Amino acid sequence: MRRTPRLLYAALLATVFLAAVAAGWTTLAAQLDADVYDFLFRLDQRVPPPASSVIYGIDEPTLRQGGGLAGLRGILADGLEKLAPCLPSVVALDIVLADETADTAANQRLARALGRLPYVVLASNLTRTGWENPRPEFPRNAVGHVHSDPDPYDNVVRQIPLEKVSGRERHWALALETFRGKFPGAVIEEDPRGLTIGGVRLPAAREAARPMLVRFRPAVSPVPEVSFAELAAKGNCTPFFEKAVLVGITAQSAAQDRHSTPLSFGQTMVGVAINANAYETLAQRRFLRPAGNLETVGLALGLTLLAGAIFYFLSGWKAYVSAAALLVAAHVFTWGAFRAGMVFPYTTPLASVWLGTAATASFQYFVTRRQLRKSEAERMRYQQAIHFVAHEMRSPLTAIQGSSELMGRYKLPEEKRSQMAQMIHSESQRLARMIQTFLDVERLSEGQMELAREPFAMGEVVRASMERAQPLAERKRMAMTLEALEECTLRGDRELMEYAVYNLLTNAVKYSPAGTRVTVRAGRAGAWLRVEVRDEGIGMDEKEARRIFTKFYRTRKAEQSGEAGTGIGLSIVQQIVAHHGGRIEVQSTPGAGSCFTMVLPVMEESRAEEPSR
Ligand code: ADP
Repeated sequence: MRRTPRLLYAALLATVFLAAVAAGWTTLAAQLDADVYDFLFRLDQRVPPPASSVIYGIDEPTLRQGGGLAGLRGILADGLEKLAPCLPSVVALDIVLADETADTAANQRLARALGRLPYVVLASNLTRTGWENPRPEFPRNAVGHVHSDPDPYDNVVRQIPLEKVSGRERHWALALETFRGKFPGAVIEEDPRGLTIGGVRLPAAREAARPMLVRFRPAVSPVPEVSFAELAAKGNCTPFFEKAVLVGITAQSAAQDRHSTPLSFGQTMVGVAINANAYETLAQRRFLRPAGNLETVGLALGLTLLAGAIFYFLSGWKAYVSAAALLVAAHVFTWGAFRAGMVFPYTTPLASVWLGTAATASFQYFVTRRQLRKSEAERMRYQQAIHFVAHEMRSPLTAIQGSSELMGRYKLPEEKRSQMAQMIHSESQRLARMIQTFLDVERLSEGQMELAREPFAMGEVVRASMERAQPLAERKRMAMTLEALEECTLRGDRELMEYAVYNLLTNAVKYSPAGTRVTVRAGRAGAWLRVEVRDEGIGMDEKEARRIFTKFYRTRKAEQSGEAGTGIGLSIVQQIVAHHGGRIEVQSTPGAGSCFTMVLPVMEESRAEEPSR
């Protein structure tokens, strides 16, 4: 790619990247990220290790037998009395024991039952008026909050805050306190990026209340659930032995804290089950860590650059196959990262790779295609020129061949012989010139031509060129006049300059009807010399005038005129003028004539006498 397209390409990639990052900030993206998160969750069919907790639930039959919610304290006391002999390791109550109830007997019984358990976590709830803490008469080892963190847009619970602060009182989450119960005497060590407890590192950054993504167990292997009524009826203690037991209301009719989860398929999950899943996440250390901003932006940048590199270095099917592979890889990567416990947002990286691929592919298609078409056109013109030259060479060659044959075969009069020899000489010179011109063009355009840097008198150059062109003009009965000539010295290559002026003159003659005039003037304008060649010929329009310096370009009128030409003369003239530090201007009107002006820097008088360096 050339310089300008390269810069454009870089700008395009930068725009794509910024657009992807900006898109990632929108709420639409947040929702999309959340939906993809849920989708990946459901896609992950791996069966986790067996649960180390049990939900001990107050279901409909339990409530019916215990006299409904009004008898909750009694029901709890009964249930916990039955649980104690099963030797659970930790018992957490997802029921707030804050109200003073009239049933003192039941309250006392409940307090006694709690006292008999090895490690008790009670629940606290933050209301508008502050923390609703359990009443002091109930023994406990810790108090944990029971809040989850439903998504503000779709109300799905994907994470819970591990920490909740109100005023000067702070509580850790019930699940975390339950987990701590497993490590007797353990403290929770805090740092800005996470928590450490009993040697276990929890990725929960301090900002936004230390959120922890809950790894919900799949439907095939949920946290086991035993109801109060079941334990009372069957007396089967095994499920509870040395387990963390989360006690809560599971009855559809009574549990108010129900929420959707990534796995819930429209059904909701009761609070105690959410807490049990949070506990499992901690106990099994199967954390899901959200990728940081830097990681996300880094991934997006990497993907954009890769998409850019593909269409920079490759083209055709290779580019498309690689781009498709990159797209697949980006999706597989997010999926793989999720399985490894790292959650990347969907929008930013994927938008960057989709947008990046689409933008760079279109760029390649349009820009590179255009370049290809251009070089194709150039090749065509080149071919045409070669054909033309071959054609042009044929006539001098035929003349040479014919004459030499005649000379060899017949005895010709001396006069005829010398005429033919002269013709052979001039025709072969013409051939040599044609070949030389062609070689010069190639060498000039590749910058290989050696240029002299010597002072020369431009007046002489103009006169010499005119002298050479005069016979051509006369043949067409055209007047070629020098209207003004200001002598001055230029520095450069005299030979080439003569070639340039001669070319302008022959063009003026070639592309003018017989009987018209060609006028030449050379005059100074400050530090510049302006050499004008004006004709009254076929002329050209503005669009054509811009293209005539392109190698092999010929105007339609010139082609129709029947004048021989290759369309390379002016491209050489332009390069010669440029090599001399000047420029060439054209003014032309179709049918009325053209004026070609070379504007060349004049050598300073004081230095004109110096020898060339
Ligand atoms: P050539 O004359 O061999 O075709 P040039 O490079 O000298 O190649 O010129 C390129 C084209 O520019 C010509 O084919 C013609 O169409 C146009 N052109 C050049 N000089 C004139 C002129 N004096 N008047 C009209 N057209 C011109």
